[in-house]
Amino acid sequence: MRRRAWGRIVAVAAITVALAAPVASVASARPAADDRPLAGRLILLDPGHQLGNSNPKFARQMAQTFFNGSIRKGCNTTGTATNAGFPEATFTWKVANRLKPMLEAQGATVRMTRTSNSYDAWGPCVWDRAKMANRIGADAMISIHADGASAGSSGFFALTPALIPGWTDDVVRKDRRLAKAMIAGMAAAGAPRSNYIPGQLMVSRDTTSLNVSNVPTVTIEVGNMRNSREARRMSSAAGQREYAQWLAAGIDNYFASR
Ligand SMILES: [Zn+2]
Repeated sequence: MRRRAWGRIVAVAAITVALAAPVASVASARPAADDRPLAGRLILLDPGHQLGNSNPKFARQMAQTFFNGSIRKGCNTTGTATNAGFPEATFTWKVANRLKPMLEAQGATVRMTRTSNSYDAWGPCVWDRAKMANRIGADAMISIHADGASAGSSGFFALTPALIPGWTDDVVRKDRRLAKAMIAGMAAAGAPRSNYIPGQLMVSRDTTSLNVSNVPTVTIEVGNMRNSREARRMSSAAGQREYAQWLAAGIDNYFASR
């Protein structure tokens, strides 16, 4: 009730100001371009994995394979988990859903490669996620993952594709620029850098989504689920918000430098 009453007072006050103000200041009361730096950008968020990828009833779907320009790889995987059993699929889902409104508030149009996180759902296959990016003509595709490395390993890093003629040659430079902008933006925002991937950049020949995508695409391993400190952060709502803010800072940095 209290909130409603306040809302009404604020609304009336805003109308009064608008009526009293000269035309020029009404225009300046609208958000400036800098308040919506992602206006006109179409961003595809790709929360890694799917909870049901570990469900035996989807074994046939998971067994599908696809030649990705380098090797023949499977549809998708279960992903990793914290030692306490918090799954990567759920973590990436939560971070993506926190990140989406942050980007939308800056004017971006945001699509997701999956719209559920359920033990009764599988995939999509990684190649279909990349094909979605191509189909919608995304300005960037951001795949969100967390690593399952040794306990002492920590921090984020980016995966970018190797040059594979006929597969990545059309986009590899753009991919590299996206990865570097993400790394710089995330680190500047406070994201802990990987202590086991030099320069926080891994060049991969075998990542299907990177090889199949024809738009600027990056995979970010935001941290290591097997590191106890990072597992704690990943398992809390406040920590998930932090990861989303760090990713948003990376995305902002990429589009600001274009
Ligand atoms: Zn993953």
